[in-house]
Amino acid sequence: MTFTGNPVSPGIATGPVFLYTPFKPQLEETLIPSDAVEENIKKYEDLREKARLELEAIHDKLEQDDPEKAKIFAAHKDILFDDAMDEEIRDAINYDYFSPEWAIQTTYEKFIRILSKAKDEIIRERVADLRDVRSRLIRIWFEVPEKNLSALEKPVVVVAHDLFPSDTATLDRSKVLAIVTEIGGPTSHSAIIARSYEIPAVLGLSDAMTLFADDQVVIVDACEGKVFTEADDALLAEYAQKREEYLVKAADLKKFRDVEPITKDGVRIKVEQNIGSADAMELEGATCTDGVGLFRTEFIYMGREQLPTEDEQVEIYKKVLNAFGERPMILRTMDIGGDKVLDCMELPKEENPFLGLRALRLSFAHPEIFKTQLRAAFRASVVGNLWIMFPMVGSMDDFRRAKAVVEEVKKELDEAGLPYSKDVKIGVMIEVPTLAVIADLIAKEADFCSVGTNDLTQYSTAVDRMNPSVSGYYQTFHPAMFRLIGHVIRSFDAEGKSSGVCGEMGGNPLTAAVLMGLGMRTLSMGIASVPSIKKLITNVTIPELEKLAATVVNLNTAAEVEEYLKKELAHVL
Ligand code: PEP
Ligand code: MG
Repeated sequence: MTFTGNPVSPGIATGPVFLYTPFKPQLEETLIPSDAVEENIKKYEDLREKARLELEAIHDKLEQDDPEKAKIFAAHKDILFDDAMDEEIRDAINYDYFSPEWAIQTTYEKFIRILSKAKDEIIRERVADLRDVRSRLIRIWFEVPEKNLSALEKPVVVVAHDLFPSDTATLDRSKVLAIVTEIGGPTSHSAIIARSYEIPAVLGLSDAMTLFADDQVVIVDACEGKVFTEADDALLAEYAQKREEYLVKAADLKKFRDVEPITKDGVRIKVEQNIGSADAMELEGATCTDGVGLFRTEFIYMGREQLPTEDEQVEIYKKVLNAFGERPMILRTMDIGGDKVLDCMELPKEENPFLGLRALRLSFAHPEIFKTQLRAAFRASVVGNLWIMFPMVGSMDDFRRAKAVVEEVKKELDEAGLPYSKDVKIGVMIEVPTLAVIADLIAKEADFCSVGTNDLTQYSTAVDRMNPSVSGYYQTFHPAMFRLIGHVIRSFDAEGKSSGVCGEMGGNPLTAAVLMGLGMRTLSMGIASVPSIKKLITNVTIPELEKLAATVVNLNTAAEVEEYLKKELAHVL
């Protein structure tokens, strides 16, 4: 059978399904009869033994390939056998007649509360481990098998309702053959990460969790957005062949990665990179790009129990700045909310999180967290070429208010005698249509702008970028998008200020060609898109692209635009 979804990260893979549902137990106080103490102590001991065996198996498997990760699981075993907690759990069963799982839950909770208050950060960090071990014990109690994307046993096709960015950010890249989810579109964050990891992904495939079963072999064609089940030998052979062809084509394209991006008529275009961490793999692009056009710093807040400290952030930012030397690194302040939730911060439940307390609005609501990030950024600025920009700025008030916080932070650093660069540029992301419309005004006050086309499309077309049932209305090729961005580029050019694009339109050759035709000279993208964009740049002239753009802004529909671009640019794709 064949199923269809959105092809958001190209590639072809065949393998067994791994249905992924994060484990979220609902526990209630449960008591045992007073004459059942011994039997329940035994149940607790058995449970602990099963957890020990799981931990040892993971530890042994990781010891060779990833000894650092293996150490974490050795530490978890120590927690499991911690004398103080063990004694409390036994007491709770013995004297309070708590059921084993309730005794575990309450005892761990107590220790988590105590450790969370510790002054020493290293002790506080143990809280995450305690939570992890508790969750393992409770999961085993409910006889739910282990499901974890960071320690997979074999190569699999991950199928999930949705993947949080924190799931994708921590997954074991070497074992994920492909990703299939029920919701999400090309600009949801799991799609963006899948592309940067070069993992084939089909998102928005409705009912995927019920259509597929664990270990069932499927073929994922993430070039066409298709998933096949019950494939016969002929189909398997056909897709093995297609996969080979795809890999040859991708390897061929990679040759463009290191060329200098100059058009045939000699115009140098800046090709920058979008990153989400300071990991070595992310920084590989430093060898072939002109800087970091977007550092999605919120990713450093994800998948952790405590907010990153100022010092930790300084280290991370310095690492990226050092890797890029004199080239700019544009740090986007934390863009939390929408589809990006945090373990270490309780966010309000909202009907429309993409229209709610997100990004800069959330920073304003938590000035201490915002200021910690800005202080860290400025402290790191001494080693490189830092630019700072704010996400989801909707008005001049927003921008002025954010700049006022920057001034406060600089004053504090001056008072503390801490050095920082005086050349840090302060800019805005153009993601909210109101800001795009007043680009001529904002260009007078901002040092630069970067167009976040993912959100600009979402907010201009009034379509939730995560919702597959309206994905047809999310039209990146809408002529209005190009008219709007054209106005932004002209406005910043008029003030002699730089404008760039860091949304997915910058990494798609079809849309990037129009943006260059409109005057854009800086494109930032996930590393996987660099080769195809450089191939485009080195095969066109600016007058050609200007003609293309002039036509596009006067076409009537997104479909006409896309068809026209595919035809005109066929030779450079
Ligand atoms: C955008 O909205 O285009 C953007 C680059 O930011 P993000 O995708 O992280 O929302
Ligand atoms: Mg955005």
